[in-house]
Amino acid sequence: MYQDVMLHIGGAWVAAQSGRTIDIINPATEEKIGALAHAERADLDAAIEAAEAGFAVWRKTSPQARAKIMRKAASLIRERADAIAPIMTMEQGKTLAEAKGETMLAADVIEWFAEEAPRTYGRIIPARGDGIYQLVVKEPLGIVAAFTPWNFPINQAVRKVSAGLAAGCAIILKGPEETPGSCAELVRAFADAGLPPGVLNLVFGVPSEISEYLIPHRAVRKISFTGSTAVGKHLAALAGKHMKRATMELGGHAPAIVFEDADLDAAAKILAANKFRNAGQVCVAPTRFLVQDSVYDGFMERFLGAVAKIKVGDGLDPSSTMGPLANERRIPAIEGFIADAQKHGGKIAAGGARIGNKGYFFQPTVMTDVPTSARAMNEEPFGPLALVNRFSTFDEAITEANRLDYGLASYAYTRSTKTVTALGHRIESGMVSINHHGIALPETPFGGMKDSGIGWEGGAEAIDAYLTTKFVTQAS
Ligand code: NAD
Repeated sequence: MYQDVMLHIGGAWVAAQSGRTIDIINPATEEKIGALAHAERADLDAAIEAAEAGFAVWRKTSPQARAKIMRKAASLIRERADAIAPIMTMEQGKTLAEAKGETMLAADVIEWFAEEAPRTYGRIIPARGDGIYQLVVKEPLGIVAAFTPWNFPINQAVRKVSAGLAAGCAIILKGPEETPGSCAELVRAFADAGLPPGVLNLVFGVPSEISEYLIPHRAVRKISFTGSTAVGKHLAALAGKHMKRATMELGGHAPAIVFEDADLDAAAKILAANKFRNAGQVCVAPTRFLVQDSVYDGFMERFLGAVAKIKVGDGLDPSSTMGPLANERRIPAIEGFIADAQKHGGKIAAGGARIGNKGYFFQPTVMTDVPTSARAMNEEPFGPLALVNRFSTFDEAITEANRLDYGLASYAYTRSTKTVTALGHRIESGMVSINHHGIALPETPFGGMKDSGIGWEGGAEAIDAYLTTKFVTQAS
């Protein structure tokens, strides 16, 4: 079912010129399931040459013709979703249901941007002199280098690829080395839909070697990265040094505030589902739970009840509701956060340990009374770890919510319109979701403030990141 993964350069699926490969491991079994072509300098040069040729064709392709190919790619993704989902589950660990949901949503993302392609309007500015026309024209930026991570192998890539293609850019995508197969299936759908050769290229290798070669390269005009804040700052600095436009989708440490007038049943159910989705390896996962004193016990009873129902197992088993962590590194990372939090006085209310010793399975973990001095309260845990603390006043909750340099997503539950309005004004995060989990849709802006990033990946804002403005003034 799982096949070896090749590079996609100039419209062809190719091995690395050196013949080098990287092993692909199933996190549920720790077994090797395939081999991945490992690009080096010569392959990257071939990708750049292909992208230059692809861009020359694609920039002249009408937005309507681009949209037609994109819509075809979306329908191929939908047709193939049942075949793509197990590939994603085997390489990444998430459940089949989550993998299929991610695949189907990718088709929606492609369609949304296909619809945006003919709407990249410029404008005409009234002139000061008779017979003068002042035109503002939007043009594709050029070749984009996109870097995407392993937690959502298709979704992190499809947002960059679709916006870039709709705008008329050519793309070199460095996909996730640990979860490459499903990302390659995304690229295959575009290739099979008739995308001209070189417009979308896919490479894998050593991430730092690829970014350090592509970002300064003259041919590359824009970069887009999703991953940790530390790496994002490094790449943004490199982009700045070489005057490249950059979009950065980085880490988060989302507060989830439960006020005393909240619907506790809904809050506990929705927050538990979204905390442990993809085993917590989600940049917008709720992490710092803040629960108002008077409803703390009631919330905890419901929340722990929902957590107890989570069934951890191989994502291919339809009865599993949470798969393993995606790679071996996450086990010591999560164990370290828990041990440190305990050392600082935090208490374990559920879970707390690895499950077995084969496969990277970890218990859904809930900790309480974790002080802000603990590492987990400051660094992104990126795993199945919920940290629950109490608060008494609105100001206290807002102060804690805004304490960190992260500002990606935040959540709140309350029945008070006054509190809803105040939250919207005072929370420092790119996305605020109140009384439901409603972020990351194709048509809504997705992005962070502060250390969580620069730019937007959904909604009407997203395509602008792949366009440049040209001013043309003409006298008749
Ligand atoms: P990591 O920081 O080494 O890598 C994170 C991602 O960045 C990976 O996809 C990796 O391939 C890429 N990367 C790393 N160095 C790079 C470079 N120099 N140039 C280009 N790409 C580079 O750590 P990891 O162990 O893979 O993941 C751990 C942390 O990364 C998590 O704790 C989380 O904070 C963050 N992360 C965030 C997201 C997200 O959706 N924002 C996704 C995956 C990982």
